[in-house]
Amino acid sequence: MIFKSINPFTQEVIAEYESLTNAALNKKIALAENAFSKWKQTSFQERAEMMQKLANILRENKQKLGLLITNEMGKILSESVAEVEKSASNCDYYAENAEQMLKDVYYETPFKSMSVYDPMGAVFAVMPWNYPFWQVLRYAAPAIMAGNVTLLKHASNVIGCAKAIENAFLEAGFPEGVFQQISIEVSQVETVISSNIVQGITLTGSEAAGSSVASLAGKYIKKSVMELGGSDPFIILEDANLSKAAEVAAHSRMLNAGQACICAKRFIVTEKVADEFVSLFSANIASLKQGNPLQDGIDLGPLARLDLVDTLADQLQKSLKQGAKLVTGGSYENCNFQPTLIDFVSVDSIAFQQETFGPLATVIRAKDENDAIAIANNHRYGLAAAIWTEDREKAYKLARKIESGNVFVNSLVRSVSQVPFGGIKKSGYGRELGAVGIKEFMNMKSLVIE
Ligand code: NDP
Repeated sequence: MIFKSINPFTQEVIAEYESLTNAALNKKIALAENAFSKWKQTSFQERAEMMQKLANILRENKQKLGLLITNEMGKILSESVAEVEKSASNCDYYAENAEQMLKDVYYETPFKSMSVYDPMGAVFAVMPWNYPFWQVLRYAAPAIMAGNVTLLKHASNVIGCAKAIENAFLEAGFPEGVFQQISIEVSQVETVISSNIVQGITLTGSEAAGSSVASLAGKYIKKSVMELGGSDPFIILEDANLSKAAEVAAHSRMLNAGQACICAKRFIVTEKVADEFVSLFSANIASLKQGNPLQDGIDLGPLARLDLVDTLADQLQKSLKQGAKLVTGGSYENCNFQPTLIDFVSVDSIAFQQETFGPLATVIRAKDENDAIAIANNHRYGLAAAIWTEDREKAYKLARKIESGNVFVNSLVRSVSQVPFGGIKKSGYGRELGAVGIKEFMNMKSLVIE
């Protein structure tokens, strides 16, 4: 099979990559096994030196790598470069902190007892195209610092990014087999999951892909972490700073052309301030410029693939038929989708029920704050949420009632290296990042010494 990288803005085929044969795949699995036997014995210091070098290589090449991201999946160049920088900082963070995070834990018992953390083998990662560097370094930096090796199956439209990341690892001095990208078809995923060396599986992507890979993880009894879709609520209460909320709302919905699991998708606003919020929000959205992602002054580029435009356009049209009102935007051509806002969205409409992966913001009007929380929780997903209110104490109490893995108050939802990140319900399970994330793929071994 041939994987094509297609520039979403020009629709040019920029590269073609052949998928691995089964024999070539088995060689890579064997190489991972061989690499793990040595890598797990290296010290944190040796690993940290290479990880720091990797961070520097990413930073030194951020323009070139940023351009590759933009050409393969279409985000604006400044966001691509920022993604490479963020990935480099994540490498720094785990280089500096992994040893401390994985130190032995002692218990108060009449005998000596403790937990020690041993690496488990290879982590197999299935990753998406929306943050082709960040999603990879987010799991790989901690996994590799912890002494594991990894096999990456990247999305088939960003194989160039996968290869660039592998090259950066090799240039940083990591031995062959510690980080390998494998260009495989979905039908070859089971071969990887069933191999003995793979002991952990991490997937970021759609619910459908998650369900399929999690089933295989269950079949072969392998630990897995699933970071799936979201339809994050952004709740605006009466006492919120409305102009700030509207500004962040537009940013939160439209960043990466709306293609992030943690983009806010359902804007739930209490009746009393709804008209004022919608007017401010719509002005922010209408001022955004969609266009060539390489040009200065452009706020959002094209969607990554034509089929994503078709899906979003269908969701928009159906929601309008179901009674939603178009406030701004609504047009699309090729991969370009105008930033769009719809109001009066009901809880049974498509735009509420499904994940909308693109620049479509939906406003739902709530009676009061209790109604707003009920609407937020009335969903199959539970990734992240934002609440806007000037009353921090109330925000804390309401945050505890929200059914999601993350809640941000008066702020943009984002993932940061120090703080565990993940979802509940159909948004998945397990956590990435932080001291909790690094331990997901470790053998926490209890050790008792009489
Ligand atoms: P997918 O979930 O299909 O793709 C993500 C990754 O999963 C890719 O590497 C893909 O490989 C792989 N994959 C897909 N199906 C399987 C499978 N059965 N077994 C193993 N691996 C699989 O997302 P799409 O790109 O198709 O986007 C569709 C929707 O998914 C979006 O509209 C959005 O709702 C959601 N999504 C959510 C993301 C998030 O960050 N939570 C990220 C991306 C998408 P391949 O490319 O070869 O198909």
